[in-house]
Amino acid sequence: MLEHCRNRVPHYAELPLPPCMDSLDELGGLPVLTKSEVLTKGVDDFRDSALPAPRVRTDVTSGTTGTRLEIWHDVNAYGYHGATVLRRFLRSGYRPWWRIAQIKPFSRPVRWFQRIGIFPRVVIGAGQSEEAIAAQVVRARPRLLMGYPLVLRGILRVISPEDLQTLRSSLRMVMTDSELLTDEAAELLREGFGVPVFDEYSAYEVLTVSSQCRDGSMHLDEDRVWLEILDEDGRLVPDGQDGLVTVTHFRERAMPLVRYQLGDRGRIVPGPCSCGSGFRRMAVTEGRSNDYIVLPGGRRIYSGVFLSLAMFSPGVAECMIRQDETGRVSVRLVPETAGEAAWIQAVTAFRDSFADLVDEPVELEFLRASRVDLTPGGKGRFVESSYRPGFV
Ligand SMILES: [Zn+2]
Repeated sequence: MLEHCRNRVPHYAELPLPPCMDSLDELGGLPVLTKSEVLTKGVDDFRDSALPAPRVRTDVTSGTTGTRLEIWHDVNAYGYHGATVLRRFLRSGYRPWWRIAQIKPFSRPVRWFQRIGIFPRVVIGAGQSEEAIAAQVVRARPRLLMGYPLVLRGILRVISPEDLQTLRSSLRMVMTDSELLTDEAAELLREGFGVPVFDEYSAYEVLTVSSQCRDGSMHLDEDRVWLEILDEDGRLVPDGQDGLVTVTHFRERAMPLVRYQLGDRGRIVPGPCSCGSGFRRMAVTEGRSNDYIVLPGGRRIYSGVFLSLAMFSPGVAECMIRQDETGRVSVRLVPETAGEAAWIQAVTAFRDSFADLVDEPVELEFLRASRVDLTPGGKGRFVESSYRPGFV
């Protein structure tokens, strides 16, 4: 993989490769890479442009600031990703015929295996009110419920005792994704739904990184991804100590990111797991949070919904959502290209997708912004709200 990087990907032309590597620890001799470095140099520098088009699939990531980064994935590496996802399900004790209710901002295409009754899934729109989400979840009678931790907590907040009892009679497990699951939140979900809760850790840049086994450990997918925990100076920290999550994907050829920092903090959990897996264990200690705005009726719209809008609305390069004390919502938006027509197109696309997802009239004020306004000092949060109606 490293040779491929040096020979085919411009950024790595000067990569100081040792003639032979005896262990993966030697990766530590290579430079560390950050998202802002990739954005500054430009994505083309990190891609194998000679890879034939059918080998490439494009994914767009939007970090906590809404900054879009277009990731190329190697189609050949997707199979390994799919296998890792399958392993996540099997590791948890899920049975392939159990019905899944998955809460996602957008619907997903039906896969061939779902047509023959394996991994049967109902997708429930995350942009809806908590009451509507809860009602659809109960109606789906799922054995497995999947969604963002905060949205799942929202269901517990609004569901009636009778509906909860109905849901608990079919439910066997909960899986969370896309945002940091704290121990307290995991406990709350476990108690509320009355079933085990399994978390995962993934990022658009490398897809799955780790997932939780039946005994509660987050095992790294070490057959796909190598993990290092580094301090601010790029030095490896001892196992058990907190630091910057740094990953290298072994099988990615389209846009290989070597020693790439995902922007989260975590640690290696020392020692073996009782489940018997030999893959190392990790814990994320500080990662993506799901902030939200509140509508006057008390309904919350989570940053996951806005993140999807930032990713999938054509013409939108980046955005940031603010809600003031009076409840007014403003969208600071950076259009992909300059000019009045591009601005109008980006605003219209954002407004239309928002209306589709949220399905309740919400006034949005759009402010034209540049990348610099969005993240003064690189500390800007994607969604921030100072509006808290009395009853929330
Ligand atoms: Zn385990």
